Amino acid sequence: MTKILTIISGKGGTGKTTVASCLAVMLSREKKIVTADCDVDAPNLGLSLGLRERDYSSSVKIKTSEKAELIEKRCNRCKKCLNVCSFNAIKWNKKQNIPVFDKLLCEGCGTCKIVCPKDAIKLRKVENAEISIGKTRYSFKIVSGQLKMGESGSGRIVMEVKRKAQEIARKENAELVLVDSSAGIGCPVIASVNGSDYVIAVTEPNPSALSDLKRGLKIVNHFGIPCGIVINKYDLNKEFSDKIEAFTKKNKIQILGKIPYNKGFVKALVNLRPAVVYNKRFEPLFIKILDNLKKSYEI
Ligand code: SF4
Ligand code: SF4
Repeated sequence: MTKILTIISGKGGTGKTTVASCLAVMLSREKKIVTADCDVDAPNLGLSLGLRERDYSSSVKIKTSEKAELIEKRCNRCKKCLNVCSFNAIKWNKKQNIPVFDKLLCEGCGTCKIVCPKDAIKLRKVENAEISIGKTRYSFKIVSGQLKMGESGSGRIVMEVKRKAQEIARKENAELVLVDSSAGIGCPVIASVNGSDYVIAVTEPNPSALSDLKRGLKIVNHFGIPCGIVINKYDLNKEFSDKIEAFTKKNKIQILGKIPYNKGFVKALVNLRPAVVYNKRFEPLFIKILDNLKKSYEI
C-alpha cells in the first residue's frame, strides 16, 4: 500500500519546501514516489523542483466551496438574513430593496439560508481552485493545488490534491506520496496531516518557530501519527536549538536531522533546483535525515 509522508512547519519560512524537495529527490533514487503540493495558498514545491507552467501536462478546475445566491422572486424583503452573516457578506440594496451577497466575503456557511423564511437563498458551488499535474526532471510526478484569489475551502482542495496523488501512485505502483503541507495550523494543514503515515516537522531555532511547532505537533498528536523533527539553520542560534532538542527529548520526539545555515540553499532556490541537486555537498544532510527516519519507521 502507498504510504504518505507529510512535511509540515508550524511557522512559515522555516525551509519546509526546501526540505520537501530535497527529500523527494533523495527518496526517488530508491523508490517510486509521487509528490503533492498541498500548500494551496502559495504552492512552491513545483518551482523548487524546477517546473515551469509549460511542464504541467494537465490541469483541472475544481469546485469545493459554495457561495450564497439570492432567488429574487422568492424574497419577501423581510431582512431576516441581513444581520446574521459573521463575514459581513450581506448588504442591503436600497434602490432595488433586496439583499446583496458579496462573493468575495461569503464563506458559504449557510446561516443566511437557514434563517430565510422563504427559501430564497441557495448555496451554489463555485470554482475555487485548480489542480495541475506535472512531471519533474527527477522522474516523479507532482500534483499541485492552487486556490483562486479570494476563495475559501482550502482544506477540501488539499483533500482533492491528496486523492489525485494517491490515484496516480496506485496507477504507477508508487510506494510513497510525499506531501508538502502549508505552514500554520489551519484547515489545509489538518487535511494534509490527516491520513499520513509519518510527519516531518521542520522548525528553526527561535521562540516563534518553537511556539508554532508545538501547535503543529498538537495536530499530529491528535491523529496519533508518528513524527520527527528537522531543525533548519540550527547553528544560527545553538542555544535555542538546544532548547528545541530538550523539548523533543522531554516529549519523546525524534530529531531526524539538523541543517546548518548555508547561502547555497538560497542559491539553489533562485536557480530552481533542489539544494541536493544544486550542490551535492548537501546530500549527506538529507541521507542522514532519511536514515534516522528509517530507524524508527519503515517508509
Ligand atoms: S452563506 Fe454564510 S458567509 Fe455566505 S452570505 Fe450567507 S451567512 Fe454570510
Ligand atoms: S431572509 Fe430571505 S426573504 Fe428575507 S430578505 Fe433575506 S433573502 Fe429575502
